[in-house]
Amino acid sequence: MKNSNSSRRKFLKLGLFAGATALIGSGGKVLSAVSGAGAAAKGTDEKVKLLSPDGSLVEVDKSHCSACAVSGKEARQGIPNKKMVMVVDLSRCRNARKCLEGCQSMHHLPPKIEWIKFFLMRDSKDTSPYWFPKPCFHCNNPPCVKVCPVGATFKRTDGIVLIDNDRCIGCKFCMAACPYSSRVFNWGEPEQEALPKDKKYSPETSWPQKKGTVGKCDFCPDMVRQGKLPSCVTSCPNGVYFYGDKNEDAVTNGTETIRFSELVQQKAAYRYMEELGTEPSVYYLPPVNRLFDYKVGLQDLKPEEIRLYKEEAGITD
Ligand code: SF4
Repeated sequence: MKNSNSSRRKFLKLGLFAGATALIGSGGKVLSAVSGAGAAAKGTDEKVKLLSPDGSLVEVDKSHCSACAVSGKEARQGIPNKKMVMVVDLSRCRNARKCLEGCQSMHHLPPKIEWIKFFLMRDSKDTSPYWFPKPCFHCNNPPCVKVCPVGATFKRTDGIVLIDNDRCIGCKFCMAACPYSSRVFNWGEPEQEALPKDKKYSPETSWPQKKGTVGKCDFCPDMVRQGKLPSCVTSCPNGVYFYGDKNEDAVTNGTETIRFSELVQQKAAYRYMEELGTEPSVYYLPPVNRLFDYKVGLQDLKPEEIRLYKEEAGITD
């Protein structure tokens, strides 16, 4: 494994470029925004007015404004020239669940809605169990997308699979089709913070969720558009998640930046149940040279939860 500072700089460049300013909405209202993060994005014909630090109004291309809501068309198309991938290092996971907390905070989800699930895995009775966090795999051949009768779930050019809750009719065909059980159904109205009046729903933020629709991990495309990392990546205290653009051949956990191709080759990465032909965008590094004993991840759990996890992993002691 080798670090590439230049790749990291490249990946983080957009995020560092961001600068605070204020956005003037179409009605002339100051919306408070951050601009500049999308400066490297391809220009559009749409213009927005921004308030410069000296108080004058400046008209800029919408692609230069990270806080301007993306159009429905843009949200369905994806971020040009990107192909997002994730690498999960199983040797570092101790079931801390900070990634889940970060995900819930980012998406304004209540604690009972979990878009990352955790399993205690054991490859054979002769080997020690390990923790296995599972987001949506953003499959390149996603069965969930194929069965949606209304086009509510879709695959974008940047590899991200999203759900448009405005279109979802709650038929659950996608849930049945996903072989990884990555989707969750909103049986009730999710107890969520309301969307601010100056923001519109976008499948890019997956907020708000709606009763009778399906939700799941969205790979945080709004953060990617701003040149930032998903919340699960930045919330993990152990650097388990590496995320990046396959086209740039670089992934980072926020501290280490590594060539994606070298990482998957040198660490013998695999994709979960690859034989299904789903072609996940999430890769796992086998739990070699583990940082933690699996028992560390049981410490804060209730006895019933511990029993279920052990049963799942076939642990009898
Ligand atoms: Fe669809 Fe499931 Fe693949 Fe996610 S993991 S893209 S929900 S099939």
